Amino acid sequence: TPLIELKDVGKSYGNIIALSGINLRVGAGEVTGVLGDNGAGKSTLIKIMAGLHQQSEGQLLVDGEETRFDSPKDALNKGIATVYQDLAVVSLMPVWRNFFLGQELRKGPFRALDAAAMRATTKEELHKMGIDLPDVDAPIGSLSGGQRQCVAIARAIFFGARVLILDEPTAALGVKQSGMVLRYISAAKEQGFGVVFITHNPHHAYMVGDHFVLLNRGRQKLDCTYDEISLDD
Ligand code: ADP
Ligand code: ADP
Repeated sequence: TPLIELKDVGKSYGNIIALSGINLRVGAGEVTGVLGDNGAGKSTLIKIMAGLHQQSEGQLLVDGEETRFDSPKDALNKGIATVYQDLAVVSLMPVWRNFFLGQELRKGPFRALDAAAMRATTKEELHKMGIDLPDVDAPIGSLSGGQRQCVAIARAIFFGARVLILDEPTAALGVKQSGMVLRYISAAKEQGFGVVFITHNPHHAYMVGDHFVLLNRGRQKLDCTYDEISLDD
């Protein structure tokens, strides 16, 4: 059973059809690459999966069950987390504070932690995901763009994500930094997370993707596995 699935999903804004007939799924340990140029409907797709918009047509399923996200909180509660390109980080804030940002909205054992425990937990959680920062007290703005993306993904996982929706995580990055993020996506996949990797870079999608969806003007032009990719696409 896929972790998340869209069936024949469409979305209109008034007369504008932003998406129509979209079928997408991602299972545990899979990466689905979503490709498309500007205006193709990528943001709209993200907003539907993130609970910011509701589809006008079709179904959204989580663990095979039809569901409805009325808010981003509903999506998070089902383990669907979105990491946006323009990360909601306060650049002067230490890494550990960023890591716990918003945590107070969540029920659970983390609310009672003091600053020292939050520092230690941040270090530990990042280490678990293969990120070893020398100093979690450093302002998050002092990290490289790739490191910031990786920290944001680790943070989503710490918040309880099973599915990571990554909004152009390599778009603003150079070759080396992109490589870091792509390796990190592979690691998340190996650990059984489902990843929806939204990008306009086919090379990046092909490096980590198992399955590909190509959007063009709101329609799905390609829906195939890695083995089915032809050079004509
Ligand atoms: P992408 O993220 O791939 O650039 P979008 O999902 O932002 O694509 O946009 C898809 C289409 O829907 C575009 O034609 C865009 O102008 C339109 N659109 C997106 N959001 C809105 C909105 N809130 N109101 C009206 N039209 C929108
Ligand atoms: P809602 O009211 O459903 O939350 P909005 O219409 O306010 O959504 O728009 C959501 C996002 O889409 C905003 O970031 C807005 O800037 C963007 N947007 C609005 N209209 C368009 C459009 N025609 N094309 C592309 N993006 C748009």
